[in-house]
Amino acid sequence: RPDLAAKIALSLKLAKPAPVVHALDGVSLSIRSGEVVGLVGESGCGKSTLGRVIAGIAAPTGGNVLWKGVDRRAMSAAEQKEAGLATQMIFQNPMAALNPRMTIEDIIWEAPKTHGLASSAERVSYVDNYLTLAGFDPSMKARYPHQFSGGQRQRVNIARALAVQPQFLVCDESVAALDVSIQAQVINLFMDLRDRLDLTYLFVSHDLGVVEHISDRVAIMYLGRIVEEAPVEDVFRRPNHPYTKALLAEVPRIETGKRRFKAVEGELPSPLDPPRGCHFHPRCPFAMERCRVEVPIRKEVAPRHLSACHLNG
Ligand code: SF4
Ligand code: MG
Repeated sequence: RPDLAAKIALSLKLAKPAPVVHALDGVSLSIRSGEVVGLVGESGCGKSTLGRVIAGIAAPTGGNVLWKGVDRRAMSAAEQKEAGLATQMIFQNPMAALNPRMTIEDIIWEAPKTHGLASSAERVSYVDNYLTLAGFDPSMKARYPHQFSGGQRQRVNIARALAVQPQFLVCDESVAALDVSIQAQVINLFMDLRDRLDLTYLFVSHDLGVVEHISDRVAIMYLGRIVEEAPVEDVFRRPNHPYTKALLAEVPRIETGKRRFKAVEGELPSPLDPPRGCHFHPRCPFAMERCRVEVPIRKEVAPRHLSACHLNG
């Protein structure tokens, strides 16, 4: 399978008093067509920023984002538009993304109309098709967003995103605001759509249960760096990085309820002024002198399993 969004090697520089912007520090992540990659880490670690950069909503100030092997910035305007449409983002708060004065039909039709993806003669069947894919009866299309529940609104957002015929969905905490039973429905919808529409996902989440359930591969972020990256079973059964181990320690089993991050000992340092060397060293029980000065590089500790820790030599 070809690389979809291939190497993202970037280092976002901060405009200082901009607390919502997080530093990314030479992050490199490849996502292959058809994969579901889970991106996890504590809030403030930069995962939303990385998601936005990968989705093309935020520009990297350094490095590059490759789409199907081509640097986005080197593309023609038409190619950039195509790559932009092919990548859609689903956010956490489903209502915020919906215009309360538009019907569901208008919301779904807006982008396909603007981009000429279907003719006005095809409008009804086009909208109905995407409503159906997102689990709605098309008769609901005359309603307004406030007439829907939270889970339904998120499915409207999904229908709207699908209506531009994307190949890659970046989901940023897309189920975090929903009740647990509704979360499961929306996750099942994402997975069903993956098979039916051949989608690729980057799933940004702080919920380990969700990530374990849906991901093929998982990247663990800490203060702007990806510290571990591996197939999902390696991350959960054979974690290598001390930060990953701390996150996974003592979390409740998935069967018994939500599997959220354990509160890792110590405070998360400011991403604006991260510790030198290994960013995790002030909280790491294994920290050595070297960890305070030298940035650990990622090494393959098993096939396709990368970890950035000096304990690996
Ligand atoms: Fe801990 Fe050092 Fe490994 Fe960082 S490099 S995780 S401080 S042992
Ligand atoms: Mg976030």
